[in-house]
Amino acid sequence: MLHIGNYLGAVRQFLEFQKKYDCFYFVADLHGLTTVQDKKKMQRNVENLVLNYLALGIDPEKSTFYRQSDLPEHTELQSILNNVTPLGLIKRCHAYKDKLQKGESEESINMGLFCYPILMAADILLYKPDLVPVGKDQKQHVEIARDIAQRFNSTFGKVFKLPKAYIPEEVAVIVGTDGKRKMSKSLGNYISIFGSEKDIKEQVMGCFTDPKRIHGDEPGTVAGNPVFLYHQLLNDNKEEVKDLQERYKKGKVGDVEVKEKLFAALMRKFGPARERYEELKKSPEKVREILRKGAEKVRKVGRKMMEEVRETVGLRNKYSPKN
Ligand code: ADP
Repeated sequence: MLHIGNYLGAVRQFLEFQKKYDCFYFVADLHGLTTVQDKKKMQRNVENLVLNYLALGIDPEKSTFYRQSDLPEHTELQSILNNVTPLGLIKRCHAYKDKLQKGESEESINMGLFCYPILMAADILLYKPDLVPVGKDQKQHVEIARDIAQRFNSTFGKVFKLPKAYIPEEVAVIVGTDGKRKMSKSLGNYISIFGSEKDIKEQVMGCFTDPKRIHGDEPGTVAGNPVFLYHQLLNDNKEEVKDLQERYKKGKVGDVEVKEKLFAALMRKFGPARERYEELKKSPEKVREILRKGAEKVRKVGRKMMEEVRETVGLRNKYSPKN
């Protein structure tokens, strides 16, 4: 399920882009297999994620929305890109390096995780995009996709467009409710969008604020305070935010009020999406049809690109079937 870090770091940009550009958005279920290896959990996660994106406003009429595993072209391209990707390049990727640093042995790191950046390069390069909207944690992977594209182009001939990451500075890394690390599902320092009201309230009330402030009548610090950061980015009542900031700095408002107002602001902001999520859950046929159409549309592009790739690397020859 998506959290507010995903929304601010990625989904918000997706929604802006779809107003102006021809966009391709997908649920990366094959990438999920690197860590989720339980059939029921995998099904539940992917089903939820599809609904999360649609409920937040990815519009299948405007954008092409699909599931990665519905297209064999992603993995086909990955197989080809493997051959122009140096081992050393992938060893330097943080997905792999982080695991080693956390003390995991090479025996416990699967090749899916290790090769994740190559599949991600295929995900991107297949569609010749101009921009890839991601959070900062994905910047290195987009650079790797660019590097792989360059290596392919110089080895075989220019096929791929060199991709660029699009990362607005103010939302590049949204800090978690612990006030220290990047907001992330696995660290448990997130505020959920589609969780129960009770869970979201707990997440908000448990949020780190100014540690030097013991009582509500002491002046507090707003800068770097995650509760205020979330207010600034997600509370549409700007007057309220300004008032809370001013009172906080003067020691005229307690943390509880600031947090309760944040909870109310989140419910206002995401209320309609939460309702759409519940509605969509009741219409599996509708969602199935959206994904079917998305896959059909995107496959035309993916197939065409793979023909070009096959031709360029010499996999097509005089004995190949004529198209
Ligand atoms: P992934 O494994 O693809 O990073 P996530 O669910 O962690 O999956 O992230 C989905 C998107 O949200 C990515 O573009 C990622 O960069 C972005 N993102 C995740 N966490 C944050 C965060 N704390 N701040 C900003 N962007 C984030």
